[in-house]
Amino acid sequence: MTTSAGSFRDSVDSMFSQAVALMDLPPGLAEKIRVCNSTYTVRFGVRLRGQIQTFVGYRSVHSEHNEPVKGGIRYAMNVDQDEVEALAALMTYKCALVELPFGGSKGGLRIDPRAWEPSELEQITRRFTYELSRRRLISPSQNVPAPDMGTGEREMAWMADAYKRLHPEDIDARGCVTGKPLGMGGIAGRVEATGRGVQYALREVFRTPSLLKRANLDGSLDGQRIVVQGLGNVGYHAALFLSQEDGAKIVAVAERDGMVTNPDGLNITDLHAHMRATGGVKDFPGATYDADGSKALELDCDILIPAALEAVIHEGNAARVKARLVVEAANGPVTAEGDAILRERGAVVVPDMYANAGGVTVSYFEWVKNLSHISFGRLERRQEEDRHRLLVEELERLSADRGLGWTMSTGFKQRYLTGANELELVRSGLDDTMRNAFQQMYTQLENDSRVPDLRTAGFMVSIRRIAESYHSLGL
Ligand code: GLU
Repeated sequence: MTTSAGSFRDSVDSMFSQAVALMDLPPGLAEKIRVCNSTYTVRFGVRLRGQIQTFVGYRSVHSEHNEPVKGGIRYAMNVDQDEVEALAALMTYKCALVELPFGGSKGGLRIDPRAWEPSELEQITRRFTYELSRRRLISPSQNVPAPDMGTGEREMAWMADAYKRLHPEDIDARGCVTGKPLGMGGIAGRVEATGRGVQYALREVFRTPSLLKRANLDGSLDGQRIVVQGLGNVGYHAALFLSQEDGAKIVAVAERDGMVTNPDGLNITDLHAHMRATGGVKDFPGATYDADGSKALELDCDILIPAALEAVIHEGNAARVKARLVVEAANGPVTAEGDAILRERGAVVVPDMYANAGGVTVSYFEWVKNLSHISFGRLERRQEEDRHRLLVEELERLSADRGLGWTMSTGFKQRYLTGANELELVRSGLDDTMRNAFQQMYTQLENDSRVPDLRTAGFMVSIRRIAESYHSLGL
């Protein structure tokens, strides 16, 4: 999307340049890191509804300092080269920040997925996969797509199947895309991963009183008033977990058809069911409806979570944003100009490259699972349970021998005696990743008074890592 201040790509580049200005990189290296290595555009025809329909698709590879390169494929009408290049660049910085061994890539197909039947979408997706495969733009070792806006498990299953048919000899074929359904080599917890990552990111922010102070907030997540823009996969899971597990109040949700508000907090499960049944948020019982959803960004609240499109907070509305904390669950929701205004106003922005890294992190776990051909926990789970049982039985025996009368609560025993399943391991790995990345980003912010915000700090950590990997390659 291009705003009056420039394109999405310009916005990402200007944030990148702000960070580079504070670093001491060898001449030319910043430019090498910044530029997008290649963008492939394909126009292909599929015979549908009695005629040949032409589609335009892209796959952009931003940086191959690590391979495979990684990033989602979106299906939307506003997909264009500038957008996929900006998103591919963000993937590079995101993967480096959360320490995943991937370069950055992104793809898109200019299509309104709602305008086509599932069987038609399947034909289009299979044909797109064929085009990508011909150019090694889908491959377990070189380029691994994933879901993004407008795509999900279903599209990934079609892509994985199409790839497998084209490469029947490739034993690692399942690792050609992530975000697949469980039965096709997917991993537990991938669907919820980006929203779960937003929750873990916010928990880490609330474990950092000095950062909260910058935002003029304090206390815990319990009772914080949150506005969520977009109740798609990311917004829905983030809102659900934050309200159900951390006691936050989701006071407003904006969607395509407007917004609903309730100062006491919206029930996200019910709202999601209402949206599925009616197609929108309008008429949701117990809430106030307003057809102008853009107003949600300007509501009085503690935390704003833009979880939909890019460039929704810009020079035209940033000054009216009242949230103290803006958590970028979408990619690029705040433009460079909007960012500067929020900073001047003292709001803290938790940048996209960190806040929404949960999806690609769990994609990494899925890819590793596919390459190792075994699910997480399968070898050690029962052995872990046996060892725990040994300890519990020994403690019970000692207690009985000495007449101490100790008894362990059934709840504790049950939890302690049950070995971790794949979902628990995935969540644990994601939590660890989000905590570590936050600490590295925050240390950069705290230790260098020139660093103005978390985003610049995040870029600096990423760029340093990418520069190091170029350095080891002798560049
Ligand atoms: N599309 C998601 C993102 O923007 C996930 C990418 C992936 O899993 O590779 O981060």
